[in-house]
Amino acid sequence: MERIVEIEKFSDEGGFESSLRPSRWDEYIGQEKIKKNLQVFIKASKKREEALDHILFFGPPGLGKTTLAHIIAQEMQSNIKITAAPMIEKSGDLAAILTNLEEGDILFIDEIHRLSPAIEEILYPAMEDFRLDIIIGSGPAAQTIKIDIPRFTLIGATTRAGMLSNPLRDRFGMHFRMQFYSPNELAKIISNACLKLNKTIEEDAALEIAKRSRGTPRVALRLLKRVRDFAEVENEDIIKIDRTKIALNELGVNEKGFDELDIKLLKLLASSKGRPLGLSTIAAALSEDEGTIEDVIEPYLLANGYIERTARGRVATIKTYELLKLSPKIQDTLF
Ligand code: ADP
Repeated sequence: MERIVEIEKFSDEGGFESSLRPSRWDEYIGQEKIKKNLQVFIKASKKREEALDHILFFGPPGLGKTTLAHIIAQEMQSNIKITAAPMIEKSGDLAAILTNLEEGDILFIDEIHRLSPAIEEILYPAMEDFRLDIIIGSGPAAQTIKIDIPRFTLIGATTRAGMLSNPLRDRFGMHFRMQFYSPNELAKIISNACLKLNKTIEEDAALEIAKRSRGTPRVALRLLKRVRDFAEVENEDIIKIDRTKIALNELGVNEKGFDELDIKLLKLLASSKGRPLGLSTIAAALSEDEGTIEDVIEPYLLANGYIERTARGRVATIKTYELLKLSPKIQDTLF
């Protein structure tokens, strides 16, 4: 099922999103604490003429981790090489990437929690001592060759803080947890995007899209793209609130930004009569894989108090029953 609030990267049709990607701090809205800290660290390392310490970003997809890496590279006047853990299958893949870096380059590894333990082992000396230990041969005749590599900065991004191994996590000098964005911040991102697209949007229309974007810039931009299509089909030059509401309702995104899948998950939890449900049960009931539920669907519902995670599983909250207009006592009438 295609979700309009889907936040995976492969959904960047025609490069729409990357064309709107901010390249400077003043275009990067929100995440103020992270921005402030990074600005200080960048200034300090430039002053010392050193490569920046390795940086780790945690947070659900679409919150601006890759964008931050680009801005950091721009600020450091460094090249940036972008890859994702699933693309680094063999130790030779990583060795090739590392030996091709230049002094001060930035290496961005997305989904870094998915690196295999063997690849992680290679990364440790590279991060710590800027050295590659390559083992040649096997058994008693095996030899380790040490190769120096340029001083680089690794920027890792992960949607799952808990899945990162401790030794890898400890080798990052800076850790940042991304926050969901407020509706006002998202409205600003939407307005800025419209400026770049040469499209006029009324303030209340931008805010309406923002409110329904699950706190996520990538979702906001996707919804904007769809709403723009609706307005253009009707020959409207300006994106107004009425058309925006019609379009968003048509797209099946409710006032809180929840779509069918969110509602299905909440209904499932509400129907379990307070009994916690495990991830695998939820995944089976919704015909979705566990990763999508944990990385994409749950974080926003958790952050907004619609789900609680207990040691025994997930449970609905009072807010869930209110949203579904149900009394916690009559949950069993749901299915
Ligand atoms: P992530 O790497 O966390 O999945 P991205 O950095 O790819 O997310 O962000 C998705 C898109 O959302 C970007 O292309 C960018 O256009 C927009 N975006 C993200 N964060 C911001 C922000 N703080 N300000 C403006 N636009 C943003």
